[in-house]
Order: sequence, then C-alpha cells, then structure tokens
Amino acid sequence: MHTTDTVFPHLFRPLDLGYITLRNRVLMGSMHTGLEEEHDGFQRMAAYYAMRAEGGAGLIVTGGVAPNRSGWVAPFSIRLADSSQLGGHRLITEAVHERGGAICLQILHAGRYGYHPLCVAPSKLRAPINRFSPWVLSPRRIKRTIDDFVRCADLAREAGYDGVEVMGSEGYLINEFIAAKTNRRSDEWGGSFANRIRFPRAIVQGIRERVGERFIIIYRLSMLDLIDKGSSWEEVVELAAAIEEDGATLINTGIGWHEARVPTIATVVPRACFAWVTRRLMGSVAIPLITSNRINMPEVAEKILADGCADMISMARPFLADPFWVKKARENRADEINTCIACNQACLDHIFARKTASCLVNPRACHETIRPFVRAGRPKRIAVVGAGPAGLACAVTAAERGHRVTLFEAAETVGGQFLLARLIPGKEEFEETLRYYRVQLARLGVDVRTSCTATPELVRGYDDIVIASGVKPRPVEIEGKDLPHVYSYAEVIGGKKIAGRRVAIIGAGGIGFDTSTFLLEKGRSSHHLDAFLDAWGIDCQYRQPGGLKIPEWPVPDREIHLLQRKAGKPGEGLGKTTGWIHRSVLKKSGVRFWSGVQYLRIDGEGLWVRHGGEEKLIAVDTVVVCAGQLSERGLAADLERAGVGFHLIGGAMAAGELDAKRAILQGTELADRL
Ligand code: FAD
Ligand code: NAP
Ligand code: SF4
Repeated sequence: MHTTDTVFPHLFRPLDLGYITLRNRVLMGSMHTGLEEEHDGFQRMAAYYAMRAEGGAGLIVTGGVAPNRSGWVAPFSIRLADSSQLGGHRLITEAVHERGGAICLQILHAGRYGYHPLCVAPSKLRAPINRFSPWVLSPRRIKRTIDDFVRCADLAREAGYDGVEVMGSEGYLINEFIAAKTNRRSDEWGGSFANRIRFPRAIVQGIRERVGERFIIIYRLSMLDLIDKGSSWEEVVELAAAIEEDGATLINTGIGWHEARVPTIATVVPRACFAWVTRRLMGSVAIPLITSNRINMPEVAEKILADGCADMISMARPFLADPFWVKKARENRADEINTCIACNQACLDHIFARKTASCLVNPRACHETIRPFVRAGRPKRIAVVGAGPAGLACAVTAAERGHRVTLFEAAETVGGQFLLARLIPGKEEFEETLRYYRVQLARLGVDVRTSCTATPELVRGYDDIVIASGVKPRPVEIEGKDLPHVYSYAEVIGGKKIAGRRVAIIGAGGIGFDTSTFLLEKGRSSHHLDAFLDAWGIDCQYRQPGGLKIPEWPVPDREIHLLQRKAGKPGEGLGKTTGWIHRSVLKKSGVRFWSGVQYLRIDGEGLWVRHGGEEKLIAVDTVVVCAGQLSERGLAADLERAGVGFHLIGGAMAAGELDAKRAILQGTELADRL
C-alpha cells in the first residue's frame, strides 16, 4: 500500500535523515523489559524486536544499556562496555534488519537513580526515590564516563545498530549535570549553564567524532523537568541548539524526572498531553523533533504531526500492546489495534518488581518465544461462557487459532467488569480494550450470544467448555446492610443508584479507590487537557524553571470516607507505579482514610464503627460496599453435578487477587492449549 492510500498521510511520510530514510514517522521508544538480564535474553529480545520491525515501526530504540558499571540502573543490569558482549546484540540487529527495520541502542547512565551502592552523580545529593547516596564524580571520572559513553556508541555501531539514543532526560546522570538542583559543582562542570551542559555536549561531540556521519544520534532532551529548580525554557532551547551543533541527528522529548510528583504516562494522563512542549521547540532547531507520552492511537499521532507539534512520534508501551500497530494503521485497520490502556500493570509494575515485562492486554509481549501464536492442528467446537476479559481473551485467541467458538454472555453486551472500569474517570481507555475485542469477535466469526445465560443444556455437546463466568460483589454481614441507602459499587458505578453528598465506602481496595474517584469526579472534566494541567500544576507558559505552577485542585462536591478493617496504609495493594497517583488524587480531594476499623452497624444517621478503641458515628447519607468479590460458579457447579468436564478461568476460577492481567493471561494460555 502506498502512503497516499492511508488515512494517516503525515504518519506514513518517510523521514529522510540524509544517509538513511525511515519508512514512517513512528519511533518505538525505549523500554526496559527485564529480558536484558535474563540468561536467554538476547534470543528473546531478538524475537521481540523483530516482531515490532515486522509490524512496521519506523525506528526502534532498545531499552537503556549502561555504558559502565556505575551507570547500572540496578545491580548487574545490562551494560555494553567491551566487544565480548557484541554477539548477543548482533542477534537483535540482524533480526530487525532482516525485517526491514532500523534500530538504535539507548545509552542510559542512571546516575543517582542507580539502585546500588556504586551509583554516582555530579554532587552528593541523594535522590528522594533512592536509598543509596551517590558518589561524587571527580573531574577525571567525568572524563572517563564521557569516554565510556563514546565507547558504548562505537560498540553499538560494531554490533550493527543504526544509531544510539543518548538518554539525557528523566533525571538520570546527564540531566543531573544540567539542572542546578542536582549540580552544585564549582568546577568547569557546574555553575553556569554553559558549564552544566558541558557533559552532554562532550558526550554527543565525542560520539559523533568516533562514529562518523552515517550513524543516528538521538538525544533525549528533558524539555519539561516538572521539578523545582529544573531547566528553564530558555535553557531547554539553548541546550537543543547546542546539541544540534554537536552532531545529533534527532531530538526526542523527555517529560518529567522520575522523582516528579506529577503523572506523565499513567492512564489518568490525557492523550498527547505533552505534545505542546515539543511544539514550543519546533523551529528552534533544524533537526527533526520527536514527541512522546500518552500517544496510543493513530488518529492522535496523525493530528500531532498535522498540527506541526513534532516531526515524529514516539510510542513505547503501545508496541507491547500491539506489535502490528503501524501495519494496522497503514492498512486503515486502526479499529483492529489492541490499544495500550496505560495501566502499567504488566510492564512498568513488573520492571519495578524485577520481573519480565509483558502487557495486560497482550500477554505474548516479551514472551514471543515462550507463548508463540500457533494455529490449531484440528479445529474444535468450543463454548466459552462469560464475556469478561477472561472469556473474551479465550474466545478471540481460540478463534484466531482456527477453532469454531460460541461465546455466551448473560448481559446485554460483552465486557464483564470492564463495562464498569471504563466508567471510572481516568480509566476511559478501558473502553478501547472492549472495542478491540468486539472487532476481533466479528472479524473471526465468533458466534456471540448476548442476553443468554448459559445452562448445562446449552453448552453440552461442545468439544471443550470454558467457564469464564467471573465474579459478583461480596456481600457484607453488617447490621443495616439491607437499608435503602446501602448500595453496591456495581449499582453506583453502573448508574442504577445515585449516592448522596456524604458517602462512606466499605473496602479500600482497587474498587474502593475507583468508586471514590467516580463519586468525586463524575460530571467533571478534570481529565481534559487544561483541567489536568491546572490540577497537577503544569504550566504551559513555563514561567518557572521546571515548568511547575501552583496546582488548582478542583474542590470536590462530596465528602467521602474510605474504610478498611486492616491496619496500615489504604491502597497498599495498588499498582507500584500508579498507586501513588490514586492515593494522591483522593488525598487532594479531602477523602478521609480510616484503617483498623470494626464495622458495628448502619442506620439512618450513617455508619457506626469502632476505631481507636472508641465507638464512632461516620455521619453519611450513603454507604457503598466495595468489599471484594466472590467467584460466580453456578454453571460450573451444575456441570460438575452432571459429570460434564470444563475448564475454569479468570474470576470464576479464583476471585482473590483477581485482576484483568490474570484474567486475560489465563484466557490466552488456555486457548493456546485447546
Ligand atoms: P468478569 O469481568 O466478571 O466477567 C464475567 C462475565 O461472565 C460477565 O459478563 C457475566 O455477565 C458473565 N456470566 C456469568 N455467568 C454467566 C452465565 N451463566 N452465562 C453467560 N454469561 C455469564 N482490573 C485491572 O486489572 N485493572 C484495573 O484497573 C481494574 N479496574 C477495575 C475497576 C472497576 C470499577 C472494576 C469493577 C473492576 C476493575 N478491574 C480492574 C477488575 C477486572 O475488571 C476484573 O478482574 C476482570 O473483569 C475479571 O474478568 P473475568 O472475565 O474473570 O470476569
Ligand atoms: P480487594 O482489592 O480485595 O479489596 C477489597 C476490600 O474490601 C479490602 O479493602 C478489604 O479490606 C475489604 N473487605 C474484604 N472483605 C470484607 C468484608 N467481609 N467486610 C468488609 N470489608 C471487606 O478487591 P476490590 O477492591 O474489589 O478489587 C478487585 C480486584 O480488581 C482487585 O484484586 C484489583 O486487582 C482489581 N482492581 C485493580 C485496580 C487497579 O487500579 N489496578 C482497580 C480496581 C480493581 P479489609 O479486609 O481490611 O476490610
Ligand atoms: Fe499498556 Fe498496560 Fe500493556 Fe503496559 S500493561 S503496555 S500500560 S496496556
């Protein structure tokens, strides 16, 4: 297909870099996957990157690779410092090139974010997110570090990479030299701005000198630090011009240091939220600019390019969710894209837990050699009961493998609990997963029977029966639980009941938090761009260095109490990289957290609890129960009694610690075995 045939002409305009032409404007951004440190990691990475190259990515950037030991992100993380390590990298570059792709190695020195005792920084200032204090780099070690960057780039060239990305943002070592906040030196590497940018400039100059002209150098520039005493806008512009002069080919956008208390990529962040930052820099340099953060669908990417906000788009997580994102967009099949919902649950949260990354909506990601797609040898007739995430994943995967699938769903529409999740402000992206499944069900000819409660009679006779009947809210045993002002979360979120102004929420798990957010924000538009920027204190005018302003958090029109019986911080089980956002939203909105309560009774005055040894009344108009769930196994029990065999997946199998990641993984894995 020609670029003129696509409905995304800007996205598919090739980008001529002089000695290499990129086939489109889509960069697969750098992402650590955890494979870097696995024993068979290079083989697995080769398969992983090759699939993204086959899927049409214009240029791929690898996860960060340290140029030396002090630059490790964590002990023994990946490093490229001598030629003995080239063999593994060649597997990657050859696999990508065979599929017509291009790939750069990202050089990342973690600086004071290095989670190990060898970490270094320009000054002895411990990062607020690290327990290790950095060693101060002496002038001699600074020069050696620059040489290490240059050597790493040269080795990357030898390994067959088309270029490197120099990681200069997110608060890592280079950024720490640039910002006055972290650079308190008084020698030639600190003090004036010219001194503070000497380090990145020397790196880029050194690399260009060593590798020659026919090699891509992307410089990832922190265009918006989102910390106090970060770079000013004038400094950003000056640095970009200097880096261009020093020999960079492309400048990529970095947003926010890791220690910033502003969400930059989570699902609460509106799509393309930071494209305005890159746009500000357009025209200040002649080399192409790449924008990034929360771009996940082609129409968003196309609009950014058409509006002149950037020359190229970077997306990272969307390539986990769908390796064929680019191909589908080019062939005008955007509705078939499995969209990244920015949940972080299987990617970043895994990395923080030192597990291999994957993707909630695509469990094959980073597991290409372990969970490959294989067509079924013999087509079977399969009944799947329940069209929540588990049943949908199972039905679609089984049908894709060649089976004939019938999907029974008791509700009027498919989606299960995701029909509620998508109604939570800031979780609107969950609807994209349902759109993806609806399109796939139709494309694959799955026989979908909605408003149809499966019975043993209906499913008997299939070769395989899969029960994915999910969960139902757990009732509570509290006096007054049946009063008319006591509702379940499903009733409240689903719009069947309207809560009053003062609400007590029983249960502070993920759904208790989501219900609080729903009640606080319903009808407000704080997830629209301007409202989001104001609420989190992000200044488009860039009046202060770092780009922060005083946040204008909207005043809530409800008083909410969120309760749990256990002691400790509510929300401890929330995602590692997103839990702080949920807690912060509720705190800023004045939600009162109660831990260690004993529920006594509910009456017309509100909810009575024992707390801190005293009996207390929480005076509220409504009580919402979010006390977890129980498996829905009615059909499974009937089949068992009738002696009919079946498979159990998702919430139907176990309700404890259930989330959509497990539901989709189980649905996919079972379908792969059928
Ligand atoms: P379900 O989603 O419960 O689906 C089961 C389906 O089976 C239902 O549609 C039901 O109608 C149908 N069914 C039952 N019995 C029959 C029968 N006999 N015949 C036909 N159909 C039947 N998870 C996350 O990972 N991340 C999140 O951020 C997140 N947020 C959430 C927010 C909210 C507000 C809620 C409610 C849930 C959230 N979850 C989240 C949880 C996630 O939605 C569930 O873990 C997931 O939906 C479980 O999938 P499932 O397919 O096992 O079951
Ligand atoms: P949950 O996380 O298990 O929380 C249930 C809450 O109810 C707990 O606070 C628990 O605390 C309380 N509870 C349990 N039994 C109770 C009882 N008998 N009486 C009173 N209180 C009781 O379950 P959930 O909030 O329903 O969430 C379900 C799943 O969806 C979770 O596993 C989660 O992974 C997923 N989810 C994830 C997100 C996300 O953002 N990642 C968001 C929503 C949902 P005490 O026992 O201490 O009182
Ligand atoms: Fe996107 Fe969530 Fe998948 Fe990560 S796990 S790639 S955030 S959908």
